[in-house]
Amino acid sequence: MGDVAENLAVIRERMAASCRRAGRDVSDVELMVVSKTFGADRVREAIEAGQVLFGESKQQEAEPKIAELPGGLRWHFIGHLQRNKVRKVLSLFEAFHSVDSLRLAQHMNQVAEQLGLVPSVFLQVDVASEETKFGFDSEELRSSMESLLSLSHLKILGLMAIPPEEDTAEQARRWFAKVRETRDRLAAEFGVPLSGLSMGMSGDYEIAIEEGSTMVRVGSAVFGKRLYPAKHA
Ligand SMILES: *Cc1c(COP(=O)(O)O)cnc(C)c1O
Repeated sequence: MGDVAENLAVIRERMAASCRRAGRDVSDVELMVVSKTFGADRVREAIEAGQVLFGESKQQEAEPKIAELPGGLRWHFIGHLQRNKVRKVLSLFEAFHSVDSLRLAQHMNQVAEQLGLVPSVFLQVDVASEETKFGFDSEELRSSMESLLSLSHLKILGLMAIPPEEDTAEQARRWFAKVRETRDRLAAEFGVPLSGLSMGMSGDYEIAIEEGSTMVRVGSAVFGKRLYPAKHA
């Protein structure tokens, strides 16, 4: 691994190449740098290389980090969200990538209304119906969609997914395609754009972009291997 600025330059170039292959505009895909487990000093290296958008997965870790770093950065929450943390995280983050149940969405909507906020959210889909994964399965999402769309204090940008781990990035392609197809069906049926697709991580962001991702969430390819695991808690 080279330094952060070098890694970011390589990733941005590869993202642009994926866009060219897919006939997409580079401005249609954003790079979120996932800074979980890495300290503020490492994040500063990314900021110096021009990065503004960061992702964190735990409120306890993110809160002091965000406070220590300059204002004007964009912070997205990507971890599993517990109801008792909603009030705290709503004022720290501009977007939430892992809204995984109607009950959570309704609670977020209620608290957001009290706080006078309208956070952006992605609906997390469990695209492979894995027992151990958080997220709506496709049918559940369809049956919840009308209620979700009625929540006036959530801005639903689209879908997010963490596909099953595969041996090669190419094998993940079908899952990314499935997320996009799920989105296309919902968008047509409910007459909403759902234009955001949050998918693709360090090992597979290029494939995710070819399949329609509008935001890739990349951590270890920027900062190197995480020394301790950060579970989605
Ligand atoms: C940790 C994490 C990432 C980044 O993973 P890398 O493989 O290090 O790029 C992306 N998305 C979510 C939801 C994560 O928890």
